[in-house]
Amino acid sequence: MKKYVYFFGKGKAEGRADMKGLLGGKGANLAEMTNIGLPVPAGFTISTEVCTYYYQNKKTYPKTLTAEVKAALKKVESAMGAKLGDVKNPLLVSVRSGARASMPGMMDTILNLGLNDAVAAGLIKKTNNGRFVYDSYRRFVQMYGDVVLGLKPVHKDEIDPFEVIIEEKKKQKGVHLDTELDADDMADLVQRFKSAIKDRTGHDFPENPMDQLWGAVSAVFGSWNNDRAIAYRKMYDIPESWGTAVNVQSMVFGNMGEDSGTGVAFTRDAATGENKFYGEYLMNAQGEDVVAGTRTPLPISRLAEQNPRIYGQLDKIRKTLEKHYHDMMDVEFTIQQDTLYMLQCRVGKRTAFSAIKIAVDMVTEKLISDKEALARVEPDQLNQLLRPIFDLKEKADAIKSGRLLAKGLNAGPGAASGRVVFNAPDAEEWERRGEKVILTRIETSPEDIKGMDAAEGILTARGGMTSHAALVARQMGKVCVAGCAALEIDYATHTMKVKGKVVREGDWISLDGTTGEVIEGRVATKASEVLQVLIEKTLAPEDAPVYQLYAKLMSWADKYRRLKIRTNADQPDQALNAVAFGAEGIGLCRTEHMFFGEGKIGPMREMILADTVEARKAALAKLLPLQREDFEGIFEAMNGRPVTIRTIDPPLHEFVPHEEKAQRELAQQMGISYEKVHQRVQSLHEFNPMLGFRGCRLGIIFPEITEMQSRAIFEAAANIQSKGIKVEPEVMIPLVGNVKELAHQEKIVRQVAADVMKEKGVKFKYLVGTMIEIPRGALTADEIAGVAEFFSFGTNDLTQTTMGVSRDDAARFLIPYVEMEIYPKDPFEVLDRTGVGQLMKIAIEKGRSVRADLKVGICGEHGGDPSSVEFCHQINQNYVSCSPFRVPIARLAAARAALADGGATTKKAAPKKGGKKKSRR
Ligand code: PEP
Ligand code: MG
Repeated sequence: MKKYVYFFGKGKAEGRADMKGLLGGKGANLAEMTNIGLPVPAGFTISTEVCTYYYQNKKTYPKTLTAEVKAALKKVESAMGAKLGDVKNPLLVSVRSGARASMPGMMDTILNLGLNDAVAAGLIKKTNNGRFVYDSYRRFVQMYGDVVLGLKPVHKDEIDPFEVIIEEKKKQKGVHLDTELDADDMADLVQRFKSAIKDRTGHDFPENPMDQLWGAVSAVFGSWNNDRAIAYRKMYDIPESWGTAVNVQSMVFGNMGEDSGTGVAFTRDAATGENKFYGEYLMNAQGEDVVAGTRTPLPISRLAEQNPRIYGQLDKIRKTLEKHYHDMMDVEFTIQQDTLYMLQCRVGKRTAFSAIKIAVDMVTEKLISDKEALARVEPDQLNQLLRPIFDLKEKADAIKSGRLLAKGLNAGPGAASGRVVFNAPDAEEWERRGEKVILTRIETSPEDIKGMDAAEGILTARGGMTSHAALVARQMGKVCVAGCAALEIDYATHTMKVKGKVVREGDWISLDGTTGEVIEGRVATKASEVLQVLIEKTLAPEDAPVYQLYAKLMSWADKYRRLKIRTNADQPDQALNAVAFGAEGIGLCRTEHMFFGEGKIGPMREMILADTVEARKAALAKLLPLQREDFEGIFEAMNGRPVTIRTIDPPLHEFVPHEEKAQRELAQQMGISYEKVHQRVQSLHEFNPMLGFRGCRLGIIFPEITEMQSRAIFEAAANIQSKGIKVEPEVMIPLVGNVKELAHQEKIVRQVAADVMKEKGVKFKYLVGTMIEIPRGALTADEIAGVAEFFSFGTNDLTQTTMGVSRDDAARFLIPYVEMEIYPKDPFEVLDRTGVGQLMKIAIEKGRSVRADLKVGICGEHGGDPSSVEFCHQINQNYVSCSPFRVPIARLAAARAALADGGATTKKAAPKKGGKKKSRR
């Protein structure tokens, strides 16, 4: 015979914590607490299978249920020494829902069940407390009338009918508060409630406690399918088939006088993670009084003074629970006439910061293993340790007072406050004056790079998660909110309109790059300890407890991960930051970003505007030493670690000025006419530049560019190697869709390498590989791997070209698409495993079929997204590459992925310490 009812009480329960599927979270934990000897009022749980049966069988119960409930109730009565409906010694029970996943407040509850006039009279005799009894009685009739008998407001403007009656009563008595009503008033309310129920619903209030019980049980099962519960299940992906359990438990009362009370507590501080008992309680009160906010609860530490015995008992329970559950728990308790009862316990919700602290501390305390600690910290939670954050109270106040201006994409995490400027030169100039600025643009372009560097944060009206602003900001470690469509920016007047307000140049705004919020005015920020130790080097590790948490967690992550973690960096300072965060190499150096550095844009523009090969070569000759110096800086910073350098990729028009004034200046510099410059710039215009003259196509049509870049790379390699520093250059050709494109470029690269080795009389190791970032490249990966020594997935372009969605213009429909669940997530943020991921799998399989040791990585923005990192692990890549500040996140994500598939390797050396050389900038 199938068992449907599970008893708990008197130190023994039929259920266990791991039976959540059958008993729901609440029922399973009540059973567990009983089994470990905690004082839990006796009760029983009707399993979720009954819920399923109920709905599959026209709201009826399994035949054996009545007998099972009766038997369980008998055990409860004997455990508590009281009987349901007994006039002399009555038992009262609560009837509560309890699903597998917590659904707070979504389903129904009935308290104080078992009362009728005769029982109430008996209870008064026993307790000598008429007010308490009648108050409990009227609460019961009110709840039962509402939940079971359906006396609710009929339309949305109607006041709760029971509240109307209470208000009438108070008016009649000339009092304001419920507490001013006495026992007789409460008794009168009970009668008035019952008549209202009869009048409005046609039902008599059931006087028989067993009838009351079955009515309540059916109502709680029925509430599994109320509108709120259905909406909540949809929101949190809780399957309808799970059903709820029903818990029937003996009532205990916190409102029986000054020796009674009730409270909630966490076994550690849920906000800071500190290992101290944290909670609140109220004497002579019921649970709802603590949450309702009508009386101010006291901190749990006060209980130590007020009732040291009970406090001692609670503190012991706190330790027992943590030892047993190996986690921070949240509990509800009631004190009834100086006796403590535990009513609920569950794993406590916590802030990101406390999640990290608790996980690390619990390893030190030997409560959990390092593997468990890694599983408990979501990689993105690390942002709390890595980035500046807002003062939480100040931010909440700002939002409460209506200062939230807009919400955009959370493109670069962290908190920044500064004064609004609308163009990059202003950002630089204001920063030189010592101002903190927020660079606010419709969108950014490579020309804005120095202004972006000068700003505290970047805000754009257009562009997605892999727009220029977003990826450059992340690489720099800047706070960024992108694609904030609500902003109407007017460059001409240096103003923007948003939410009916006008924000002018110089006004303060604050960006929360972790949530995408844009806030009017200034909100205080806090620096992160980890950055002070690792990046600013203003704090010693031993004086930085938060850094120590970080370092421990990272050392465990490194022990278990299989993926290597590289970084996307194109300046020595970025490379050094990344190494400090644990990067093991550079996975993408975008050489074009370097052209906007000191002295390079002039010769670059000359090169682009040249109309003969000779003129182009002359300009390239000027660029060569400058690029070589860049690469020397990078090799030195990386101190022996591998460096992947990509040849020029973006469409050339991005490098030339588009305004007349700048074009005239350029003409003068170059000694040619303005018209010629203008005409040449015009000729570079493309309708669809992302699919136009870019990537390897540039190096194929202008081979001298690839020649110059290869020479700069290899001469730098030779020079640095001669200083005794190991170098491992990897030359990467972008946007390859046909093996012949790669073969063409490879030939040039290898020729230059051979020339440089010969000229310098040295030997160095290097690789030639390609990006896989257009579908044809992935589909013909076996051909391509015949030439390429490594693949790196450029998933920004691969997503764009596979889905046919522009990475720069998609915000307008992508956000609604995600809301409508057409895409589960923004595919430029979280890799689309089904489509783009499938191409990646095909590419790896085909590539390794011809070159077994093909090294495979990813350098699109997905390389720093935890879910995408997990996928890269699963498809057997060798490494992921991400922006410097995401390196720790990727390390943790990689370890969790390895632990999740059981493929964790054993001990591995932690990444080497950072290079010693300081930034050149
Ligand atoms: C990519 O396409 O994923 C990539 C890394 O290159 P970029 O973003 O520079 O196009
Ligand atoms: Mg690309």
